[in-house]
Amino acid sequence: MIAVIGAGVGGLAVAARLAAGGHRVTVFEKSDTVGGKLGEWSRDGFRFDTGPSLLTLPQVLTGLFAEIGRDFPLELRRLDPVARYRFADGQWFSMYARKDARDEALDDAFGDGSARRWNAFMARAGAIWQATRGPFLESTVDGWTLVRQAVHVRDLATIAPWRSLRSLARHYLPDPRMRMLVDRYATYTGSDPRQAPAALASIPYIETAYGGWYVEGGLRKIADALLELCLSLGVDVRTGSEVSRIAVTSSGVTGVEVGGRVFRASTVVANVDADRLYGELLPVSSEIRKLRRVQRSLSGFVLLLGLRDRTPGLGHHTVLFPRDYDAEFDAIFGRDPRPVEDPTIYVANPTGDALFVLVNAPGQDQLDWRALSGAYAQTVLSRLAERGFEVRDRILFTHTISPAELEERTGAVGGAIYGTSSNGPRAAFLRPANRSVVPGLFLVGGSAHPGGGLPLVLLSAQITAGLIGPA
Ligand SMILES: Cc1cc2nc3c(=O)[nH]c(=O)nc-3n(C[C@H](O)[C@H](O)[C@H](O)COP(=O)(O)OP(=O)(O)OC[C@H]3O[C@@H](n4cnc5c(N)ncnc54)[C@H](O)[C@@H]3O)c2cc1C
Repeated sequence: MIAVIGAGVGGLAVAARLAAGGHRVTVFEKSDTVGGKLGEWSRDGFRFDTGPSLLTLPQVLTGLFAEIGRDFPLELRRLDPVARYRFADGQWFSMYARKDARDEALDDAFGDGSARRWNAFMARAGAIWQATRGPFLESTVDGWTLVRQAVHVRDLATIAPWRSLRSLARHYLPDPRMRMLVDRYATYTGSDPRQAPAALASIPYIETAYGGWYVEGGLRKIADALLELCLSLGVDVRTGSEVSRIAVTSSGVTGVEVGGRVFRASTVVANVDADRLYGELLPVSSEIRKLRRVQRSLSGFVLLLGLRDRTPGLGHHTVLFPRDYDAEFDAIFGRDPRPVEDPTIYVANPTGDALFVLVNAPGQDQLDWRALSGAYAQTVLSRLAERGFEVRDRILFTHTISPAELEERTGAVGGAIYGTSSNGPRAAFLRPANRSVVPGLFLVGGSAHPGGGLPLVLLSAQITAGLIGPA
């Protein structure tokens, strides 16, 4: 039997792949529901996604169903524009999917020649994507192997592993507002653009080349679809089943302990945060030391707002930038972690009256969010009003999900969204591998290779299932 610990996207996807390969698979999930960070919350007829709001690289998700020989059950809608951005000087910019509309919007917002500069940056970003996707994102290999292969194929100059995302953007884009657009993609991996590698330029490339997508009915439907897929393949999915320990002998894993009972398993796949795996479920001090050499990814502070009426001017995705973006990264990653006083505010507004408001935040391991939450929610609403969206007079209810609740609900240490950050040139090399040092123990999910976010988590399931192989 293969035991999977955690029914997040990675846990469900790997369970489906393994079951399709003929294995007997049991998934143990501590919560009463599956999906992990891909959650939802409802009240008074309003429904909210509480985690992901944008799907990128949808072919990784549809490909999972296709490889298993099932029809893809969800309706995907390509967003155009993918997002609307507002800068502190009041300038708006819409990131259109269609190139002609995007080029026009770039020149309109940032001046003549801006589209040409952006497209030159995108050409480089596309080259980075082509050079890294096979050897890194779709393989078991670690970062060092990537560098060796890169040298081999003379792609090193393209990837520029010594260079930060900020520095690459500065090379192509003289307008500081355009650089802010690029900086934001570092936060897609929970990182600081001043420290994250230039290779993350592949994220805006992916968004442009393959689109940003919405799942009709909400992204949470992805978790429902993965659960259905697992059940149809005979996976035993047990919710309300917290694994407290992984049983091992000198020859490898032998099972998992749930509620004082040990379930025997020849292979264990952990979908829990790697820090919790190696710190609590099966202490491995060398792995913990490696993990702690990299800063944890940022967390998020979420406000769900049920509103009377729609909010004019808000697109499906709206990003409201602050005047000083660096102050945000200093507050989160600096020596003195604190809530960001003037944060970038991200609003997802798929239905019109149910707003998902997200700002980046230091984790619960650094601040006591239970004490800070109430006042900080008011700060975020004030900043929203200052940037043109006064909604306080129309709020029917507010629901807050701080890093404390995120940690409690998903087991992510500190509420870190993406495990470790990509801060620093060595971060990718120190990310936990999918095959652990303990025989029979494998990792899947956002805190393991190749990283967080739905597409990478789905790729980690593909890699891990490949390592285990068919029955
Ligand atoms: C606010 C927010 C916004 C996001 N936005 C986006 C976005 O727009 N696009 C995107 O692609 N990604 C986004 N992400 C990231 C994305 O949600 C995650 O990368 C992905 O869902 C993580 O999946 P995972 O497989 O790592 O598992 P997780 O979701 O971390 O799930 C782990 C599971 O393990 C369970 N578990 C933990 N400990 C135990 C135990 N001891 N025993 C049993 N079960 C246990 C947990 O309950 C949980 O269900 C966002 C995340 C958040 C929080």
